[in-house]
Amino acid sequence: MRIGHEWCGTVTAVGEGGDPTWIGRRAIGDTMLGCGHCRRCLSGRQHVCEKRFEIGIRGGFAGALAEQLAVPATALHALPDNVDIVAGAMVEPGGNALRAVLGANLNPGDRLLVLGPGTIGLLVALFARSVGAEVHLLGQTTRSLAFAATLGFAGVWSADTLPALTWDAVIDASNSAELPGIALDLVEPGKRVVYIGISGVPSTIDTRNLVLKDVTAVGILSASPGLAGAIAEYAAGAVDPRPLVAATVGLQQVGAVLSGWRPAGAGDGPKIHIDPRMP
Ligand SMILES: [Zn+2]
Repeated sequence: MRIGHEWCGTVTAVGEGGDPTWIGRRAIGDTMLGCGHCRRCLSGRQHVCEKRFEIGIRGGFAGALAEQLAVPATALHALPDNVDIVAGAMVEPGGNALRAVLGANLNPGDRLLVLGPGTIGLLVALFARSVGAEVHLLGQTTRSLAFAATLGFAGVWSADTLPALTWDAVIDASNSAELPGIALDLVEPGKRVVYIGISGVPSTIDTRNLVLKDVTAVGILSASPGLAGAIAEYAAGAVDPRPLVAATVGLQQVGAVLSGWRPAGAGDGPKIHIDPRMP
């Protein structure tokens, strides 16, 4: 199938009966497309609808790696003029990150540890810093740690250098099978762990730790309830996701980029932005 679920664009046409005032407006869209009439959809949980499509991911719904994309108008969110196309394409991962931060229930001055300095981990760190948390990241590769350090967080650590600090929340944004359990080991009793990363194999946590430490664990799937908040944070300048983008390429380079090629002059950020208007 055609992938692509982090995107923005300009509405060029509406379907029969569609609202013509959308034409010409810039927008992003929810990835999750619930059926609209089951119990979950009707209670505001369309992102976990059993029959949902996910744009560019699930149910064969074609994604955004194309010149044009058809989406239901009900999934659209208008983009303010001061959110440019690079930030616009980062609203979807930003909504995920914002929800993870909200799940951690941070107060200003709280100390947060983010496991995994990839795109989601870095966005989590940026959103958490914007609410006044002291943000630290734990990573593995020299390159990802060096890049995270350029963003000015309170601490960037490897497993060998992580100091024994009190962590008011731990957010796992890694693909490790071991880190979810380590998150629970590290977090302060009575506080929260948030799981937004997914391992390729089953990960385990010891629920005795969860009980005996009185910890609340939160799982996050999708940006849906966080999209409007992410747009607002970007528009207000509270969070700027654009430094994460290393380069912009056209559709012709997608295959090479997905297989690991980096264009000449690319920065060290984890994201490559694709602009279908480029040759
Ligand atoms: Zn539904």
